[in-house]
Amino acid sequence: MEVTVKQFVKEFKQQFQSMYAYSYEEGSNEQLYNALGLLVKNYISSYWKETREKYIKNSVKQVYYFSMEFLPGRQLRSNAYNLGLLDVVKEGLSELELSFDQLAEAEADPALGNGGLGRLASCFMDSLASLGMAGNGNGIRYQYGLFRQKFVDGYQVELPENWLRYRNVWETRNDKSTCMVRFGGNVWLEENHQGHLVPHYENTLNVLAVPYDTPMVGYRNDTVNNLRLWSAEIPVEEEANYHTIEETEPIKEITQVLYPDDSNYEGRLLRLKQEYFMVSAGVQSIIRHFRKYNVPRKNIPDKVAIHINDTHPALVVPELMRILIDEEHLSWEQAWEITFKTCSYTNHTILREALEKWPIDMMKELLPRIYMIIEEINNRFVENTLPLYGERITWQTAILQNGVVNMAHLAVIGSHSVNGVAKLHTDILMNDVLKDFFELYPERFNNKTNGITQRRWVHLANPELTKLIDEKIGENWKLTPSELKVFKGFEKDKDTLNKLTDVKLKNKKRLADYIKEVKGITVDPNALFDVQIKRLHAYKRQHLNLLHILHRYLEIKADPSADYVPRVFIFGAKAAPSYHYAKQIIKVINSLADLVNNDPDVGDKLKIVFFENYGVSLAEKIIPAADISEQISLASMEASGTSNMKLMANGALTLATLDGANIEIKDFVGEENLFVFGLSSKEVYELKANQSYQARELYESNPKLKNVLDALTSGTIPNLQDEGYALFDSLVNFNDEYFVLKDFASYVEAQNKVDDLYKDQNEWARKSLLNIASSAPFSADYTIQRYADDIWKVRSCVEEDEGVHLVDEPLY
Ligand SMILES: *Cc1c(COP(=O)(O)O)cnc(C)c1O
Repeated sequence: MEVTVKQFVKEFKQQFQSMYAYSYEEGSNEQLYNALGLLVKNYISSYWKETREKYIKNSVKQVYYFSMEFLPGRQLRSNAYNLGLLDVVKEGLSELELSFDQLAEAEADPALGNGGLGRLASCFMDSLASLGMAGNGNGIRYQYGLFRQKFVDGYQVELPENWLRYRNVWETRNDKSTCMVRFGGNVWLEENHQGHLVPHYENTLNVLAVPYDTPMVGYRNDTVNNLRLWSAEIPVEEEANYHTIEETEPIKEITQVLYPDDSNYEGRLLRLKQEYFMVSAGVQSIIRHFRKYNVPRKNIPDKVAIHINDTHPALVVPELMRILIDEEHLSWEQAWEITFKTCSYTNHTILREALEKWPIDMMKELLPRIYMIIEEINNRFVENTLPLYGERITWQTAILQNGVVNMAHLAVIGSHSVNGVAKLHTDILMNDVLKDFFELYPERFNNKTNGITQRRWVHLANPELTKLIDEKIGENWKLTPSELKVFKGFEKDKDTLNKLTDVKLKNKKRLADYIKEVKGITVDPNALFDVQIKRLHAYKRQHLNLLHILHRYLEIKADPSADYVPRVFIFGAKAAPSYHYAKQIIKVINSLADLVNNDPDVGDKLKIVFFENYGVSLAEKIIPAADISEQISLASMEASGTSNMKLMANGALTLATLDGANIEIKDFVGEENLFVFGLSSKEVYELKANQSYQARELYESNPKLKNVLDALTSGTIPNLQDEGYALFDSLVNFNDEYFVLKDFASYVEAQNKVDDLYKDQNEWARKSLLNIASSAPFSADYTIQRYADDIWKVRSCVEEDEGVHLVDEPLY
């Protein structure tokens, strides 16, 4: 959009004064940020309105992405950038002697998600808008985001994340579009005089769902979509029934906190309440909006696509059935046809403990009408399947099993499409986790490899790299990501490689300053920056990384004068508060860091930096400075990974097992341009099947490994309680569930190759360049294009010369 610097300066001053009744010169960073954010939102608002009106006027098919988590990151910079205003804003502020960067840091980073799943949802929102597609988000406005992590004596402690403290300038409370959600009570069906079964409810807990809408701004295409997050309140007309604050708790708590369990199933009633609350409010508002289109209800699937992001929103299926039958008075058959054609489902994990199962008794009591519908879906499924496929498959795939509601089964049965998030993951779904369903419904299964938005993760996080690419190949790649491949042509160009090395060094210096500031650790920017940033989980194997660092430390101690390539090992990771083992790993890494960072024999040869409170904002600082991207999960366990894509796009070389999207990274960039080690998923499956794994044998037969493991319990690492023993036990005595010891030797070997390559800076830069140039296929723009074509059947609503256009997909 067009705003001059002069106009911006004038409007900013006015905005500030109207909010605070004094001059901007006296404002705090938070106040200045709030004024700036609201002004930018003002600029957004006309496009937001026009986009909505355009969709209705043209009866455009809309996608609703249902997700319990969104992890949008700070929005000021990306909104200003996508609007095309970032430079004007920066210049205007500097005329006022204000620093944009400083104000931008005052924005709270909304941690409304745990990790990759929530971040994916937000990358998808960015791409949907940037492709000009009608895509809405639907989720929960948690009052407290994921806990704030602090380390005390090396232990993780969790503090509340009150992200709304200074208000949230991006959201708009929309009191016109509230919905009522009912819980509990009794329900019975009564036939009315037209022969319809009408449900009657009594003694229900009625909760008002209030939507807070946030604009999702497309990249230079005048499109602004909507992210709708719901908040639970007491219905106005029932306020008089509540006499004390305590009585209001059961309602308020529904949207109070995000569950901090990244993958473990949290068996709590409140979690189920949250799921139904978001689903019911979302589906009600979709059906209400659909009425504006004035088309028959049987055409809902032509105008609406509902996406179920992991099983958490799977109650969409019975809720849509409920509304169509009870409120729209359709027959079961009509309702089912619509529901099944409208819904699609993405599976995100093969971890058994993360596949949601709710006790039938709990479901029945909390959601009596929904449970009736689930039961009926299940009965009809069994009736249809049994004669065709027999007992075994039917009972393996039923929704109701052994007293629980299997949510993945509900999602698969109620959706026309089921996808995994990387090729290997989708194969594992078809051959193992959802094998029986693949037999029933092969046509539903498809793969959609995850992606990331280059706008946030490259253009904004790494402006110097972006400038270098612009200089060399022009700016087309920003609108047509596949153009990035042109950068490959510079792999032998000395000037480009030197500049690339300079950019990386500058980013590393900036991170080194930040490390000094927040951790008090001095690191050498010329050292190799080795990065593992992701949730802490045994399957991601931060402890394999730990064992290798300990191995390095022992080698340096044994021969301090030998030639070592200096390394800084950088971690960022939160552990679920109830995940004891993950917290023990954090403690051991922190204690090892204390030892290593203060040992004069070690100096710059080895440093360990474990950042507190990993989240999107921290990721944006770390990723541009990374040399090595650690993607070392046990093969078959990581569904896709997306930090692997962000790091690749910023020129880090990947050190990886052949897991998730690492395999596709290897296929695109070529095996010689990354470091692969460890068991393959096939070998992992074989080891599990024949139960032949013997961790203790490995411990006893590999002296280096034994040395390292013994150091966990020998007192080498200071200030441990029993954490060293806990790790040792899990790895040696309890037979190492994630085959860490098995992969240790090949990991160390790969790490040595990393050192060798780093000594040749020119060759390193060449491979880094090839990684950057091969990263376009992981643009979420392509991922969304494939969802849109194959699953949602939606198209761009902007002209071809506006915004992002994906002419040729960089296919394989
Ligand atoms: C990208 C991202 C993730 C996902 O990381 P993985 O390594 O793919 O698990 C998690 N958290 C944040 C804050 C991210 O930005």
